[in-house]
Amino acid sequence: MSKIKSINPWTSKLLGEFDLLTQEQIDTKTDAAAKAFATWKDLPISDRAVLMKKAGKILRKNQEQYARLITAEMGKVIRESRAEVEKCAWACEYYADQTEGFLAPEEITLEDNKKANLFHQPLGVILAVMPWNFPFWQVFRFAAPTLMAGNTGILKHASNVPQCALAIESVFREAGFPEGVFQTFLIDSKATLALLDKEEVKAVSLTGSEKAGAAVAAAAGKNIKKSLLELGGSDPFIVLADADIEKAAEIAVKGRMVNFGQSCIAAKRFIIEESVFDAFLELFIEKLSQLKSGDPMDESSDYACMARPDLAAELFSQVKKSVEMGAKIILGSEQAKEGSAEFDPIILTDIAENSPAFTEELFGPVATLFKVKNEEEAIKLANVTEFGLGASLWTEDPKKGELLAAQIDSGAVFINAMVASQPGLPFGGIKKSGFGRELGRQGILEFVNTKTVYLG
Ligand code: NDP
Repeated sequence: MSKIKSINPWTSKLLGEFDLLTQEQIDTKTDAAAKAFATWKDLPISDRAVLMKKAGKILRKNQEQYARLITAEMGKVIRESRAEVEKCAWACEYYADQTEGFLAPEEITLEDNKKANLFHQPLGVILAVMPWNFPFWQVFRFAAPTLMAGNTGILKHASNVPQCALAIESVFREAGFPEGVFQTFLIDSKATLALLDKEEVKAVSLTGSEKAGAAVAAAAGKNIKKSLLELGGSDPFIVLADADIEKAAEIAVKGRMVNFGQSCIAAKRFIIEESVFDAFLELFIEKLSQLKSGDPMDESSDYACMARPDLAAELFSQVKKSVEMGAKIILGSEQAKEGSAEFDPIILTDIAENSPAFTEELFGPVATLFKVKNEEEAIKLANVTEFGLGASLWTEDPKKGELLAAQIDSGAVFINAMVASQPGLPFGGIKKSGFGRELGRQGILEFVNTKTVYLG
């Protein structure tokens, strides 16, 4: 691959072609990132905050332009694209305001009354390998804390969103960030892994599939460099008998259909206590059927298409195999639309334990419903997956909710709410969902050297 193509998944139109960087360009730009670090790290946090606030303002000023770019390159509906850009501005403001406090030195008094101070110092050039599903948000979620901490950043974005990648670089440029502090590299996977062999690159953050995560973490590990992985999820959405079923069904549909199901924290497995299963299913079908499909640029569309035809084909094949193994289709059809990114939402029940719908992540609008006898069975089923990102739990008894939340193997549990990220909440998973945390104070501490200075 010598060129990166930008293709609109809704119209299949080629929007543009971009040259990959040559090795010489990669070397020069990596050098620039390291040089920029030498001065950027010593800038007072308050000065960095001024620039980060400006980046937030530019995002808001150009919101419509960026939203249209997101929708054109990966097919999400325009309303969701606008919300994504707004959320990025929020992250810029949040870290501009909070970094001073988050990175303030901490004093430790030891048992013998000796003292030490902890200082949080930036590491250097940090590589970000990012996916296409939230092409702005995933990057700002990395960049806002990482740059505010005094690091510089290199972005290797997913190959289907090159225009978003370049637009993000231009946000930082327009905001006045010094040359080299944030750069987009249009490169392939091989060149990405090779960056981790370079002395200048100190760590990597990746959001994406298990396969990509394993390759990037291995390259980092080989070089004794830190990696942060935010991988897939197969989040349970547990509805107990005492839940507000109407509300639960409304949020269940939202949770499954956000970003047309292409979200790591989308609700994927609906685990329902048997006494309310039928009522929930009826409401779920009713609410899902009310959503309107159409052109993603159309204000009234609730969903449009998947981000690439190959992603739709893969999802169809997971559904088809699961149906062959016994799953029942309650809504939709397993008939693939050859070469198209179109996909109609599907609901599956009676899912066999070793079928793809049970064991794999379904990264698109396919909901799997499971009937369980009681809470114990619900938690057991919630934890059976290899993933452990988020979970949503519905009960009118908050005490019970908290007790059960403690038993769920995941990075987050949302009680009576949809799993969602926001700047102030640490975000990340366990098991095959990855390791490390983004956002909140935990997020900014991932790429700093917490230095202990002992006073003898
Ligand atoms: P990938 O995981 O392949 O892509 C994510 C990023 O990793 C992209 O920038 C990609 O670059 C890069 N990448 C992929 N392989 C390597 C490698 N060996 N070395 C270095 N970088 C690499 O996602 P896909 O687009 O293929 O989506 C496939 C599946 O991944 C989805 O169906 C879903 O299950 C999961 N996924 C999870 C996401 C999440 O939010 N956790 C987001 C997106 C996908 P390039 O595009 O050039 O290959």
